[in-house]
Amino acid sequence: MPTKLQLFDTLSRSLHPIKVKDGDSFRFYCCGPTVYGPAHIGNFRTFLVQDVFRRTLEVAGIKTHHVRNITDVDDKTIRQSQAEGVTLKDFTDKWTQKFHEDCAQLNMLPPHEEPSAVQHIPQQIELIEQLIECGHAYTAEDGSVYYKVSSFKNYGKLAHLDPQALKTQSTSSSGATNLADEYERESINDFALWKAKKPEDGPNAWPSPWGEGRPGWHIECSAMARHYLGDTLDLHAGGIDLIFPHHENEIAQTEAVTQKPLAHHWLHSAHLQVEGQKMSKSLGNLYTLEDLKTQGHSPAAVRYLLISGHYRQPLNFTADGLKAANSALQKLEKLIKSLLEQANKYPSDWASYVKPDIKAWGIFQSAWDSLCNDLNIPSALGHIFSSSREIGQTTEEKSHTLLQALGGLIYALGLPLFETPEKVAIPDSIQKLAAARWQAKQNKDFKASDEFRDELLKHGWQVLDQKEGYTLEKKP
Ligand code: AMP
Ligand code: ZN
Repeated sequence: MPTKLQLFDTLSRSLHPIKVKDGDSFRFYCCGPTVYGPAHIGNFRTFLVQDVFRRTLEVAGIKTHHVRNITDVDDKTIRQSQAEGVTLKDFTDKWTQKFHEDCAQLNMLPPHEEPSAVQHIPQQIELIEQLIECGHAYTAEDGSVYYKVSSFKNYGKLAHLDPQALKTQSTSSSGATNLADEYERESINDFALWKAKKPEDGPNAWPSPWGEGRPGWHIECSAMARHYLGDTLDLHAGGIDLIFPHHENEIAQTEAVTQKPLAHHWLHSAHLQVEGQKMSKSLGNLYTLEDLKTQGHSPAAVRYLLISGHYRQPLNFTADGLKAANSALQKLEKLIKSLLEQANKYPSDWASYVKPDIKAWGIFQSAWDSLCNDLNIPSALGHIFSSSREIGQTTEEKSHTLLQALGGLIYALGLPLFETPEKVAIPDSIQKLAAARWQAKQNKDFKASDEFRDELLKHGWQVLDQKEGYTLEKKP
């Protein structure tokens, strides 16, 4: 049954089998959000790819150990918390909580660990001390510590940088940009591991062997990944903008100390775009989940849209795309409802099918194969729809088997079917009308029952009778 799972690796630029190398679980680290405002749906595209990846591993029978960090100390969190006159902790707690709420609405599995930079200052200091000891880092006069890029011979291997270009850049390091920036760096390529306290940091500084300050951004992931998952990860993930410099710097930091590869595999997802440009806060072209919910879209449709493109291709965000995602979800729900009826089950039984242990894929084998082949979600979705057209009338037992396979695929995709807010949030007045119609029908008062049905339709709600009971559907 299990097809071999393979994925494109950014470092080797080729497809590689995904398997556990050491121990009993697949250990992977995802760079998490910087919590200084709501995450936008571009961020969520990346986190959702990682979520489907994890779910697919679970369906393939592979145990996972998933770590995703919270970046809660950097220029933006410090600046913004001060502008609002609140402590860094209160500020970042608020946005971390909002992030968790959005993740839950998008049906994302919480990582097994979610460490934050502020909670791991000692681990970061220890790693910086090791880097100084082995000659890969140096202290500047103001108490900052920098990584000496020229000391690491493989620098640039992930981003495939030209070593000659790097050398030329570092010898011209007395340029204006360098002077304007952190002038105590020996080379323009060197990056900060520890930043000495500045007046604008306010109270946000921690003691260290080099004086008060705070960690640079890149060191937190090297330190926390190593702390939770060991020297070499099975996989490290993020959006493509993290390849350089963030992941390149993580490699330089960790590998200089451990002399081992930081990760066996590098997974990077392409950007969500708006009119051909990356969705980002700086361009002001972003949408949050909240924005889209206010416009009447369900989190399920947002999830569907964000996972529906191949993760290595940019995905363009449009309102039409969201509408199409909603129709696709309705099609899936219709298919599942009909299978449930044929299997003599109720809609409420669907949840029991959505799980990772699958015995046979049957007609859905090609959909599963697509997921295993470089996480090809659009192809998997295409196969689900084309295979279901073959089903037609079937026996109770066969419907049950089909539902099991479909439940495995929907678990991998994490689509929250039958849970869209339109369906969950049924107004009280509508619930009462529907209950009255049901009662009239039980009493065989079909005239009254029809009147209640028409009244519900007038309010935009359709009653669908099941073998026992009924469901309500909001008409678009
Ligand atoms: P940040 O909070 O900026 O550190 O970003 C969190 C994650 O979102 C990182 O993995 C980024 O690479 C990713 N990301 C940022 N913008 C986009 C975008 N427009 N599309 C997809 N991923 C993105
Ligand atoms: Zn990171």
